[in-house]
Amino acid sequence: MMFLTHISFALFIGILKIRLIPLPIDKYLFLAIVVLAALLPDLDTQSFISKKSRLGFLRLFFEHRGFFHSILPMVFFMILAFLITGNPYYSLAVLIGFASHLVFDSLTKKGVAWFWPSKLRIRGKFRTGGLIDWGLFLGFAILDLFLIL
Ligand SMILES: [Zn+2]
Repeated sequence: MMFLTHISFALFIGILKIRLIPLPIDKYLFLAIVVLAALLPDLDTQSFISKKSRLGFLRLFFEHRGFFHSILPMVFFMILAFLITGNPYYSLAVLIGFASHLVFDSLTKKGVAWFWPSKLRIRGKFRTGGLIDWGLFLGFAILDLFLIL
């Protein structure tokens, strides 16, 4: 899916989480981490985050939708968030953002190898940048606005 779709869906889940069960931490920082985590899997491709973070060299070593699109780096970044902040709610933010990315990429034809290095891929029928992708982006962006306002 497009990075805009990942952001709008991750924000939707993050805002919904805050609305349903309020957090004892800053909700804006929580949402910022959700969005950042939703972009992390695409460090393995020429994406917005790989360019802006100067971690674009990672795509030379990792196949797109390989290691970085699996549970292993998600757990790594959750542990890293906990070690940096000492607060499990920030690990939850990473879980929400990262998992939302994997769920939506699983809807595409290329799919996601959640259990890398296993080659088992969960695939869908949609094309990244296609009509459904744009529809999901717009739909969740509108829902985000309704939830924020
Ligand atoms: Zn991706």
